[in-house]
Amino acid sequence: MENKKLKILIVDDDVELCQMYVEIFQNANFEVISARDGLEGLDLATKEIPDVIFTGIVMPRMDGFSMIESLKKTVMTSSIPIVISSHMGREEDKIRAESLGVKDFIVRDTTRPIEVVERINSLFAQAGGEYELEFNPYALDAQKLAKELNFQASYLCLDCSEKLALKLKLTNPKDRVFEASFVCPKCGLVVK
Ligand SMILES: [Zn+2]
Repeated sequence: MENKKLKILIVDDDVELCQMYVEIFQNANFEVISARDGLEGLDLATKEIPDVIFTGIVMPRMDGFSMIESLKKTVMTSSIPIVISSHMGREEDKIRAESLGVKDFIVRDTTRPIEVVERINSLFAQAGGEYELEFNPYALDAQKLAKELNFQASYLCLDCSEKLALKLKLTNPKDRVFEASFVCPKCGLVVK
């Protein structure tokens, strides 16, 4: 596999902190983009489809949780791994993060920046460039995506009527080309 840089989107309204992480991740060989608040983050995530998002919680205009909720509603952004950078590490925030499927919850004051890089890197050790999305036919761009993939069925397995999952395999990391197929999680039927 070619040496592909992982693209990280850092979202934080703390300019100094954001800049520090930009440099740290650049040094760790990531391609880095950054946004100042959730609204900008949402916009960039949709345009750039980063490999991972590292976001703060409290921000003006749109906070981290609202941004995550919006990302989860769109097929192409719903499976981007998200890591929260928390200032206070409040228990209620942790619970909310977990319910939104956030991959890691990092409490800033007790975590050294290099450890942050390690924890984010470890998310990709297992992944191996395959993304499995639950295909939600009611997501905003679901119909469009299904059409692009020439998939016109009811999103249900023809054999067992289980809800199909969308499987994306990264075949060309540089241009972010995916090989897409629908798979039945129950009987394994594959629809290409
Ligand atoms: Zn099936």
